[in-house]
Amino acid sequence: MAIAVLNDQSEKPNNLTDFHGKEPHPSMPARKDIANGQLLIGGRWRASSSGETMTTTDPTTEAAITTVAKATPEDAQAAIDSAYDAFEEGPWGKMHHEERAKILFRMADLMDERADDFAIREAMDMGMPYTDFRTIIMPHCSGLFRFFAGQAMSAMNGTYRTSYEHDIRILTRREPLGVVAAITPWNFPLALACSKIAPGLAAGNCMVHKPASDTPLTALALAQVALDAGVPEGVHNLITGPGGSIGDVLVKSPKVDKIAFTGSTSVGENLIRNGAETVKHMTMELGGKSPNIIFADAHIDAAVQAAFWGIFWNKGEVCVAGSRLLVEESIYDEIVEKLTIMAKAAILGDPLDGKTQIGPIATKPEYDKILTYIESGKQSAARLTAGGSTRKINGKGLFIEPTLFADATNDLKISREEIFGPVLPIIRFKDEADAIRIANDTTYGLASGIQTSNLGRALRVADKIRAGTVWLNTWHKYHPNAPFGGYKMSGYGREQGTEALENYTQYKTIWANIA
Ligand code: NAP
Repeated sequence: MAIAVLNDQSEKPNNLTDFHGKEPHPSMPARKDIANGQLLIGGRWRASSSGETMTTTDPTTEAAITTVAKATPEDAQAAIDSAYDAFEEGPWGKMHHEERAKILFRMADLMDERADDFAIREAMDMGMPYTDFRTIIMPHCSGLFRFFAGQAMSAMNGTYRTSYEHDIRILTRREPLGVVAAITPWNFPLALACSKIAPGLAAGNCMVHKPASDTPLTALALAQVALDAGVPEGVHNLITGPGGSIGDVLVKSPKVDKIAFTGSTSVGENLIRNGAETVKHMTMELGGKSPNIIFADAHIDAAVQAAFWGIFWNKGEVCVAGSRLLVEESIYDEIVEKLTIMAKAAILGDPLDGKTQIGPIATKPEYDKILTYIESGKQSAARLTAGGSTRKINGKGLFIEPTLFADATNDLKISREEIFGPVLPIIRFKDEADAIRIANDTTYGLASGIQTSNLGRALRVADKIRAGTVWLNTWHKYHPNAPFGGYKMSGYGREQGTEALENYTQYKTIWANIA
């Protein structure tokens, strides 16, 4: 029984631009030359010790953008040594929290000043529409530095306690872990780097960042920001290169205290195994197959917006994409029809074009992988109602149309595996219990969504969903203050929020005899 109406959504418009509500950003720059990238070790930019480089490619033009250094295992060791020495000998960990915070606030300001550059890099490197980056991602990234700078000032202090024994006092100190290796994926390269580097630095750790080989360009710009803001040498190090070889050095080194990882569940499992020998602290932000449940009492047009952008924002290359849509049977046909109209009308294009809603798939291997899932969907009992094909813009580009499979069931390959692209299976459910059962029938537990006007139902179902994030009558909301992370095989540990600092600090207890 309904106990309240959740949000009056009657005024919500239902056009395609509504969900993120963004007009094209006023500055829509053109592609530009990006300087070759080097490694940042010990506060100095340098080439790889082998002299080798890797090329990074623009998925819109399919042309090379620039090269970055291809670090060797020796370079990875040099970066670890540099961070270790900076932690043991340098000023960072000893600095008053407020001094560290001032540097992080400067980083945030510099990031905002250089927002155009960050946005062009992300658009060229991973195909993210420039407007989405400028209006959603960039404020979040600089906001993470401001949020954790504030945390450094307020949350890093210790306590002074009494004991049962009259002359005994207990002091606690909240201390950094030491050297943190941040290993980040190719989707949302800047945001996922900032969600580790901001709390890591705020707590007084020294960092080694290894970005994904396919999208390293914003990591280079962020490392320059750290230098320019006055982060002492050796405190932030950047190594670009293949995860398999240099990642292994990071994970096995006894000088590295923590691995902060975002990536696939299979690589995460590997890191957990390899890190066990040195008992590493770890946070694991892994894959997802997130259910979005639309009940018949939802505001239909708003729910369609949430479903559409829940899966197709950033072309479905989002760990928390609403990649399984569960629809109550009485409204099933209406929802499928509305989504199909939206999918067919979506504007695919150059991320640096203000009209573009959906950019290209970030890399050729991902593009090929998504197409095999689309083929699997076509061979299944599900019904293709939109998309299913590739597109070129000006004869180029790794574009895949927003693809819908109606009449899907939860046992299909496209419903069980993380596709990480613009493909949505739409599944029917009978009632609330059926929806919860299907939603939880997955190995993942990253995000979920419930679209309903019944507050009691929204909160009741939210309690029962086994996922780290639940969006009620919306999707893709983020804030530095909101803890983020997975249940089940989507990982453990939390990024963002005051909770994140727990994963970058440890407590020391000092017993004092004052007699
Ligand atoms: P990935 O293949 O697991 O790679 C992630 C990072 O790990 C890259 O920097 C990669 O380096 C590195 N790596 C690969 N093998 C390694 C090894 N043996 N040791 C150490 N590092 C290694 O993931 P991806 O394809 O880049 O990203 C997509 C995945 O990330 C999806 O599953 C998605 O759901 C997940 N994701 C999760 C979240 C979340 O917050 N939960 C957010 C975004 C993405 P190279 O690039 O050099 O291979």
